[in-house]
Amino acid sequence: RAKAAGGNRFELADPEADARAITRHGLTTALPTALDRGEFFIEYQPLVHLGDGSVRGAEALVRWLHPQHGVLSPDRFIPLAEHTGLIVPLGRWVLEQSVRQAREWRDANGGDALGPLRINVNLSPCQLTHPGLVQDTVEILERTGVTPDALCLEVTESALIGADDDLLKPLRRLAEMGVDIALDDFGTGYSNLANLRRLPVSVLKLDRSFTQSMQQFPADPVDLKIVEGIVALAHSLDLAVTVEGVETGAQAEQLRILGCDTAQGWYYARPGPPDRLHELALVDATG
Ligand code: C2E
Ligand code: MG
Ligand code: MG
Ligand code: MG
Repeated sequence: RAKAAGGNRFELADPEADARAITRHGLTTALPTALDRGEFFIEYQPLVHLGDGSVRGAEALVRWLHPQHGVLSPDRFIPLAEHTGLIVPLGRWVLEQSVRQAREWRDANGGDALGPLRINVNLSPCQLTHPGLVQDTVEILERTGVTPDALCLEVTESALIGADDDLLKPLRRLAEMGVDIALDDFGTGYSNLANLRRLPVSVLKLDRSFTQSMQQFPADPVDLKIVEGIVALAHSLDLAVTVEGVETGAQAEQLRILGCDTAQGWYYARPGPPDRLHELALVDATG
């Protein structure tokens, strides 16, 4: 396919873009049955306390084992699932699986002998507006016997920009029950910092771009000031600060000095199977 680009010049259509469009179409068609066929699975990435290095929990990250394309990352299919509405049942499945997993870790630990491992689950904006969110979450917690304070739901900053009270209501209900709400990818949106007071969040997840700017030691003084300011503001509002994408020891050290509470990244562990997380937590607790 070629399209006229004015005058007598012709521009060839980008074959890679075409291939991407075809795959996107194919993936969208395959999505609805993928859940029934059990093609999704979850990897867990540890959340580590920056002060003492202990594993405090994990973030659940969904993957799709596609019969033809192999393992697909969420960036490939979450937008499609949001577009088609499959994100609601898929998100519910991820929540149930992850909370069940948290219960299994707890049982394997002999109760909370190692300290409770908490579970973080991502919520898409479509799930926020779905009327079943609070009810589904309550039922999953009851069925699994996991207490609300072991669960943290991550919502991106951009999903809450300009959020009105109707959108915040389910999050407020969940927060009142004791579920933590984290503001994911913080610093990438354009939210008014003063707006934070209005949101029922208890955790800020500082975006990976901030961590990347901590590559050099010492880091750029302006970047240091910005992170320092965000941490001070967060702590003054009683919010904990988690940092994403920590890839080096220098970054971890820098962010620890800046007062961040928890970290996540390849420096500690890549996302992996649930047994791996349990091993990491065990090694960590027994030295
Ligand atoms: P996110 O919630 O911000 O998750 C963090 C992403 O950073 C993950 O990508 C993780 O694998 C990656 N990451 C962790 N440590 C490092 C590091 O040290 N360096 C680098 N370069 N990357 C690191 P992943 O697993 O591909 O997930 C991408 C996004 O997809 C997530 O971003 C989240 O927004 C979304 N997602 C994942 N699972 C779910 C889900 O169950 N539901 C919804 N709605 N969204 C999900
Ligand atoms: Mg997240
Ligand atoms: Mg994030
Ligand atoms: Mg992110």
